[in-house]
Amino acid sequence: MYSQISSAVVSGLDIIPVTVETDMSDGLPQFTMVGYVSAQVREAEDRIRTAFRNSNIELPVKRVTINISPADIRKNGSFYDLPIALSLLASAGLIPPHSLDGVMAVGELSLSGNINSVRGALPVASAALSSGIRTLILPAANLAEARAIRRLSSVGIRTLNEAVGFLRHGKTAEDADCFTAAGPAAADTGDEDFSEVRGQQTARRAAEIAVSGFHNLILAGVPGAGKTMLAKRVPSILPSLTEKECLEISTIYSIAGLLDPAHPMIRRRPFRSPHHTASPQALAGGGQVPRPGEITLAHRGVLFLDELPEFSRKSLEILRQPLEEREIVISRASGCFRFPANFLLLAAMNHCPCGQFPDRNRCTCSPWDIRAYTARISKALMDRIDLWVECPAVSYADLLTDNKPAESSADIRLRVEAVRLREAERFRGTPFHFNSEIPPGSIRQFCEMDSEAEIRLSRMYDSCHLSARSCHRVLKVARTIADMDGSDVIHGIHIDEALTFRTPEKSPNEDDTGFRYQHITAWTDT
Ligand SMILES: [Zn+2]
Repeated sequence: MYSQISSAVVSGLDIIPVTVETDMSDGLPQFTMVGYVSAQVREAEDRIRTAFRNSNIELPVKRVTINISPADIRKNGSFYDLPIALSLLASAGLIPPHSLDGVMAVGELSLSGNINSVRGALPVASAALSSGIRTLILPAANLAEARAIRRLSSVGIRTLNEAVGFLRHGKTAEDADCFTAAGPAAADTGDEDFSEVRGQQTARRAAEIAVSGFHNLILAGVPGAGKTMLAKRVPSILPSLTEKECLEISTIYSIAGLLDPAHPMIRRRPFRSPHHTASPQALAGGGQVPRPGEITLAHRGVLFLDELPEFSRKSLEILRQPLEEREIVISRASGCFRFPANFLLLAAMNHCPCGQFPDRNRCTCSPWDIRAYTARISKALMDRIDLWVECPAVSYADLLTDNKPAESSADIRLRVEAVRLREAERFRGTPFHFNSEIPPGSIRQFCEMDSEAEIRLSRMYDSCHLSARSCHRVLKVARTIADMDGSDVIHGIHIDEALTFRTPEKSPNEDDTGFRYQHITAWTDT
């Protein structure tokens, strides 16, 4: 007898619906599986046979042919154990023949007949809804994820017998306790707060600008100045997510297998902080069928690289394409995979291997060491950094004698949200979300300057030999600063502040370190 059921294949971040067909006929007992399946999918036969035996389900001894179509897509993973088992049951007449109509199933079988969880349940549920599926049967452990897609009927099962019971009688033993996600988790802003950061007014200001306009930021300075401490508090001031962004991020985490079953919808912008020993594959995404790497897991959030020059040159160069195109394309024999990678790059670094430069009394590094250290960050990568901040050592007065509490994350976040609203209004009907995303062709349209700002920028353009790219970066940062000021027009003061944060560029007068240190006047936030 013939039967069929829907299932799905994960290809990068895409979910493609597939059909599992089973034909059971008289003849020599044989089990054949066709349809461009990987060795991993072929192993399903052994798992299914043993799971049936241990669930006390007896299949007739017949010739079985299974086809997973369409045949031009490579089927990987353990998604297909459950749909193949259900389709076999229907072909053998052990469940009603029409019980699989409009049903999609995904799940891995254990030898005992239990159903193990799978990755990607959330996007599978989303794909099921858009392809007109009525019921999605999936592992109970993934039920909360699937139920985030509200208009789809999702059924969580723990064992093969429970699936049979559901398809015969329309009921599962109990699935209420699987559904822990009764409502969206509140936007949790973490425990770390900006009020704990002493001094560093310029860096605080830069962090607020970076987060408001999603500009890439480098904090440079001596060890112990509080760069990492400040960076770790950035998640507490990140702007909130829209529903669409929540679903997009949750889909990535579902496919990576990193979703918390208790909170299947991620309501907070991600903050990823890979160690400097991370390989290029760990950052970009690796595997035969690539899985999301750190830069994709940081999508719509922050990628924090502490000790930036300690990362391998290869790992850092990986960042160039995503920083420019906001996605990464990975090519494999099985196809081309596109992963979104629109993140805020936040990095911290010292100026030399010992960390004490430019204090020549304490720095023990040779000029060659210092040059080699900073040269690890290529000019091309530097060109993509919007804000550069020097973090000097914290003064005694700031550290111990100043009793005035610093501004809290909650207060800063209120201002960030206000800028976010202005940006949402400005970019309505465009694919952009933040000021940093304005393409060169639209700079004039979105960054309107008054005459004073024009004069100051053109003067700096000539005297500091700014490149066209740096000039655009200064303008985009000035746009965010003007937004923070509640102004639709960029004034001279906004250009001035944006210029203090520009990335150091090599000049004919550079000293032996390869960097020209600019004098940065501490920004006093009044
Ligand atoms: Zn040194």
